[in-house]
Amino acid sequence: SSLYKVEGWGAPYFFINAAGHMAIRPMGNSSKPQEEMDIMGIVQHIIESKVLGDLALPTPLILRFPDILRDRLHKLQSAFDRAIHAYHYQGHFQGVFPVKCNQDRHVVENIVELGKPFGFGLEAGSKPELLLAMGSLCKGSPDALLVCNGYKDADYVCLALLARQLHLKCVIVLEQEQELDVVLRMSCHLGIDPLLGLRAKLNTKHAGHFGETSGEDGKFGLSCSQIVAIVQKLRKLGKLHCLQLLHFHIGSQIPSLAIVHDGVSEAVHIYCELALMGADMQFLDIGGGLGIDYDGSASAQSDMSVGYTIEGYAKQVVQAVKSACDMKGVKQPTLCSESGRALVSHHSVLVFDVLSAQHRGGRNLNTKKGISVDVDETLPDELRTLHQSLVGFIQAGDLQNVKDCASKLKGNSVTHFKQGKLSLMQLSAINNIHEAATELTEVMRERDMISTFSPFVRKSFESFDLHDNGQDDKGYGTHDAIYHINLSVFRSMPDTWAIGQLFPIVPLHRLDEEPMVNAILSDLTCDSDGKVTAFVGSNVEGRHVKHLKLHHLQDGKSYYVGMFLGGAYQEALGSMHNLYGSLPVVHVTQSVKSRGIAELNLKRVSGGQKIADVLQSMQYNPNTILEVLAIQLQKCFSEVEFSEDEREKALAVLRTLACSFSSSTYLSNNHQTS
Ligand code: PLP
Repeated sequence: SSLYKVEGWGAPYFFINAAGHMAIRPMGNSSKPQEEMDIMGIVQHIIESKVLGDLALPTPLILRFPDILRDRLHKLQSAFDRAIHAYHYQGHFQGVFPVKCNQDRHVVENIVELGKPFGFGLEAGSKPELLLAMGSLCKGSPDALLVCNGYKDADYVCLALLARQLHLKCVIVLEQEQELDVVLRMSCHLGIDPLLGLRAKLNTKHAGHFGETSGEDGKFGLSCSQIVAIVQKLRKLGKLHCLQLLHFHIGSQIPSLAIVHDGVSEAVHIYCELALMGADMQFLDIGGGLGIDYDGSASAQSDMSVGYTIEGYAKQVVQAVKSACDMKGVKQPTLCSESGRALVSHHSVLVFDVLSAQHRGGRNLNTKKGISVDVDETLPDELRTLHQSLVGFIQAGDLQNVKDCASKLKGNSVTHFKQGKLSLMQLSAINNIHEAATELTEVMRERDMISTFSPFVRKSFESFDLHDNGQDDKGYGTHDAIYHINLSVFRSMPDTWAIGQLFPIVPLHRLDEEPMVNAILSDLTCDSDGKVTAFVGSNVEGRHVKHLKLHHLQDGKSYYVGMFLGGAYQEALGSMHNLYGSLPVVHVTQSVKSRGIAELNLKRVSGGQKIADVLQSMQYNPNTILEVLAIQLQKCFSEVEFSEDEREKALAVLRTLACSFSSSTYLSNNHQTS
């Protein structure tokens, strides 16, 4: 478990159970009765269709745990409730979920339903998001806020005003000064007074990847002079009472409480000034940014983690708001947050299978023996001399010369090949020598680096000592194998490609066996970017590692891996590169009976996109394609002598073609049914 840091990023939900499987306690450390769920067992149930009857689903698929969602929502609400109580704060907390994190109907409807008792609302950033939020909130608490962010045109504003007529607490947050004119015009036209908010562009900025949103040059929000201009305009028109909310968002995944404190303090002073200028201020919306611990380090220094808890975050916010309001004599506002990542990341687990492994092989990286690749007698003298020098440099441990000599050998071999003086076999042998030498220099460099550490640190690396036995290459610092995964990185973990995001990736089974292979993952797409090469774990410098420890694949048996903490943004941002479609989704819950026996409930909520679906999304009509294929088939078969046998063959071809449209866009893993 320490290898994958499960305790760090997974607690209190994910752990490795006694069977060596990834398992889950969906209600975390809640006192409610619950039993551990074996994720591997669930996957087995699904693929073998034991529970879903005829609806067996292959991997890749997404497992959703609504109980985790409930727990996260309760954690957020109760952290604020407790902080409010501890600081004798006069207002309350009423969050909204930014639907852009995961617009899936089940996720949004679940949040609205679970959040009804404490008036939890939604945030929308576009017209379609607003419409889905309006529909969902009609079944929610009447007090719930519907916060409208993002750039707006007259149609967007019109929808938001109509939401007021439906008695939804819909707040139009102005991002740009000119939006006010649109709102005033539409409000006059429809005869509906708006509920207005302002998005402040703060000076507070965070240094992490998502900090670009914030600071003076940030993309969004109003400067203090624009805020003052809007207040003056509203006052002049007798509409200042419409302004009730101040919003800011300094970026996702805020690394430290110091930045939370800075941002909230700056914003609450603007809030107080607005109240003192006569606006009917009620709500302070602190945006998103509550981060999660992707790498299990719980450190503000890591850009994949945060140095605080939800409790700490809530206390910091409440304390900063209270102290500024007390100082300025302003009534303490209702606090609203737009936490997305912190709410939905944990509840979704992406399950995929490994199709095959490509091991680095055929090379002997023994430093004593040198690189043993056959170099035959017909090799031109120049290349033979270079090869001999290379072996000498390796034996002397002369890293720089190994590298230079190997490059020269490779370069010269290509020249010889172009002149017809080298066979393809020889070129390939030299290519292998170059690759092996490059790998060897990396390994030797690691070993030299380790030798400078204290004996204690050195000891912990003993298991990586691969140089002297001449047998097993554990490849520390490099990877031993590429594992081909049945997945598209662009569809299911786009942030790993787009912004170098790290997600915990762990085998779902065999965790009681030591994983011996250092692997990187390569996906199904025809794209060299479709790979994962950074993983949770610590190397010599305590940084993330460049390979994932995996088990050797076993003949005839499937190997399943899970990606965790991907419930926010990944599904929404995933693209159809190579036309790999959305994945099937299964909701997993348990009902614990009075005698403490838990019953597992699996509900397939989406079958995922089939080939016909993805083709349609690109404006192809599957029926038209099939018709064209059928006509072509008829033509081809009419050229051969017609017989009953040929007719049967043609029909079989047609049937196979027709069926393929309704099949999965992913590869079928034959082991799954064995
Ligand atoms: N609110 C706004 C305006 C955002 O832009 C975002 C995302 O960046 C969020 C809320 C959600 O942030 P997070 O997922 O970090 O909580």
